[in-house]
Amino acid sequence: MSVNLKQARVDPIIGNSKPVTIMNINFTSLSKQELLTECLFPVLMSRSKCFIVTANPEIVMNTRDIPGYKQIVQSADIVVPDGAGIVMAAKYLKLPIQERIPGFELMLDLLEFANEQNLSCYFLGATEKTSSKFIREINKSYPNIQIAGFHHGYFKDDKMIVKQISESTPDIVFVAMGSPKQDEWITSTYGQFSKGLFMGVGGSFDVIAGEVKRAPDKWIKLNLEWLYRLLKQPFRLKRIVRSFAFLILVMVKKE
Ligand code: UDP
Repeated sequence: MSVNLKQARVDPIIGNSKPVTIMNINFTSLSKQELLTECLFPVLMSRSKCFIVTANPEIVMNTRDIPGYKQIVQSADIVVPDGAGIVMAAKYLKLPIQERIPGFELMLDLLEFANEQNLSCYFLGATEKTSSKFIREINKSYPNIQIAGFHHGYFKDDKMIVKQISESTPDIVFVAMGSPKQDEWITSTYGQFSKGLFMGVGGSFDVIAGEVKRAPDKWIKLNLEWLYRLLKQPFRLKRIVRSFAFLILVMVKKE
């Protein structure tokens, strides 16, 4: 895919000419395609720096409940509406969010682009076993991506990880440690890196490694990915309840 930097409709770093605010979080109103071609690809081609949060209802609820997390999410350059609940809330509030942008799909598009452009990526997160399996899959499916490094997400000391990233200056750093850990880690280290697109991707490494199955397309199209995950991983019930609590709060507070 070709990228013309002059085509950028908005400042690639801000990427958000008309943000849509739901519960004090500014979501991008761009479609996935617009976000990629007008913001993220130009960020990558211009070797700039960018922090993306893909926020679902549970993450928005976390911003209310976990001290300091709201500031972290608000500090992101781009917050992506990941989760049917965010789109439903926007519709209810009559705000112009175009579509749900699943973080997993955004990651796949970025990997595709990185492969086309021979970009370098660092992969942080998941268990040690999943991380190795995941890297094998990346090597197989995206052979042109330069792997700047990878590390599992259960470390005590991140000095070596930070050193590796600042020395290898990867174009993209994917952090798969779940919310809020991944975003906390990105913001706590971000100042030490000169460039790169940093993005938390939750359980995406588990899916690519084949450890966890994503919902079939039909379920995704019906906005029932959450139900599929719940049936496969019943421990998610608390999270689902929080997603419903989010919708109720939006209706009650109208914000
Ligand atoms: N994880 C990690 N370090 C931690 C906690 C979790 O690397 O300290 C990983 C975990 O192995 C899994 C991912 O983070 O690969 C979180 O997945 P989950 O499905 O919970 O994230 P979600 O997609 O729901 O945000």
